[in-house]
Amino acid sequence: MPENAGVSFSIVFLDKNSPVDPHIDEMIRWGKRFSELGIVHGEEGNLSFRTKLGFIISGDGITLESMTKDSVVEVRGVVFGLNRPSVYTKGQLNPSMLTLLHSAIYETFPEVNAILHTHDNSVLAAADKLGIPVTSEEYPADSKELAQEAVQVLELNKGIRYFVLRNHGIIALGTNIAEAGLLMEEMHTKAAGGTKTKSGKKK
Ligand SMILES: [Zn+2]
Repeated sequence: MPENAGVSFSIVFLDKNSPVDPHIDEMIRWGKRFSELGIVHGEEGNLSFRTKLGFIISGDGITLESMTKDSVVEVRGVVFGLNRPSVYTKGQLNPSMLTLLHSAIYETFPEVNAILHTHDNSVLAAADKLGIPVTSEEYPADSKELAQEAVQVLELNKGIRYFVLRNHGIIALGTNIAEAGLLMEEMHTKAAGGTKTKSGKKK
């Protein structure tokens, strides 16, 4: 599903300077890693981590493979009003289309500090076999309904850190970026039927 097919929220730029945070480099490295492993292709996927003021997320329409410090955005707040939700940001780009989903998970689950989203085809094909929870309904990437589905699947399956957005992709959560990244990688290996278990083999 393309992540740039219309926007269901308004973006309010508080500040057009890119955010600065020591964890941005780490997030960039995971984006490249997922690309190398074939977990993401092209403009698929988006990554985020919690900050003191909100969360930093990859920008809309960027490829994770070539993400830079200027292609991430800090979301400082999401306000639901009479019309479309307003997303308040710091950064040069529009935030990822999945911003409402990331926001809803951070707001509901204080222990989650990183959210990684890919369209890992190996996992999507093997999700039933692996017993991975799946959201019940399919909604557009930028909708608040999809955000609600994600929260619901997490509330129904206490303690899970990995689930499928129906007919769309994967969400991996962690208390930090590395934890979520390693989980994404581990599930990819498992779904692809790989037998490697430890580091040392790069591919
Ligand atoms: Zn997606």
